[in-house]
Amino acid sequence: MKTQHCLSAVVTACLVLGGIAACGGGNDSSAGNGGPKNVRMTWFGVTNWHYQIGDLGILLDGAVGYPARDPNPAMVTRVHDALKLKGDVDVVLLGHLHGDHSVDTPEWAKQTGAQYYGSKAACAEAVTYGISGDKCTSLYGGEKVQLNEHVAMRVVRWVHSIGCGLLQNGGGIETFGYLFTVKTPDKTLTWYVTDSGAGGRDLTTDQIDTDGVNRGAPLTNLAKAVRDANIDGFEVWQGGPESRVVNQARTVIPAFGVKTFMPHHYGARGGFNITQGLHYPYSEDEMPELKKFLASNNVPQLYSTNYFDAYVYDSTGIRADGNAEVKAAMGLPANGIGPGPQGTNPRAGDMECPGD
Ligand SMILES: [Zn+2]
Repeated sequence: MKTQHCLSAVVTACLVLGGIAACGGGNDSSAGNGGPKNVRMTWFGVTNWHYQIGDLGILLDGAVGYPARDPNPAMVTRVHDALKLKGDVDVVLLGHLHGDHSVDTPEWAKQTGAQYYGSKAACAEAVTYGISGDKCTSLYGGEKVQLNEHVAMRVVRWVHSIGCGLLQNGGGIETFGYLFTVKTPDKTLTWYVTDSGAGGRDLTTDQIDTDGVNRGAPLTNLAKAVRDANIDGFEVWQGGPESRVVNQARTVIPAFGVKTFMPHHYGARGGFNITQGLHYPYSEDEMPELKKFLASNNVPQLYSTNYFDAYVYDSTGIRADGNAEVKAAMGLPANGIGPGPQGTNPRAGDMECPGD
């Protein structure tokens, strides 16, 4: 299959830049003539996601252990081998260049040979790591990437999280969200994933980057992507990080008609070992304002108990799906926590600010 790139706002004829390898894989969302029937989603720590859509596999971030200063090739191989039981990786995405997300991303690009999409700085780092320049696509926001006949990805310039009482206006690390549309025989599946984010005014304030370029207000950028995709909003939002996400939720959920919120960026604080299982649980009660807001909008939270929990998203909605084989390959139990012990979130009590 070919990957097409175009700046959706200005280019009508997309430029075919290169091929990405088609892959097999034993998943049941295989594309027939009418396209893929579903998306299989696997979460494996922090904001790491693997999406298998028919024969197309997409990986976000892919940090396989933290803290770590350098990639862990052996663990990337192990996780890749486990994921290959259900698909493969043809495209590698990075939300932002911070170690807890990006430490292993260049190694994923290297081992899979997949096209890597990230910020200019992320691509520079990848090239230093040994990835050839044409295998990394620098993002600025506003790009449309037609991954195959059925799957499109729109890149949204987003914003990184900040602390209490601060305003993010572009000086922080470049952060991107990805809006996906998948045409199935029954309907178009839609989700938006962001690996960090601030909320409130930060979403409606123009973000001026370090080169002095105005990258637009995140909310406006997302609205443009949604319009460009010819949809009214998106059904699933995978958002984070854990802190202050209520401020994003209050803006994003009503604006785009989100039906299911899938929180991520948990199980990261204090470092994590992917073969030992999630070392503290996601707790709705640690974010009481978020819990209250979502409940009053009838938006359920769908989240994982352990690494490599999987979900199937199709025309009937999104639901958890067993992933015992993959978990076994990682030394994790088929269900529940473990094998390591579980404690409490080191940041419990500090997840929302006064006034949130
Ligand atoms: Zn970060």
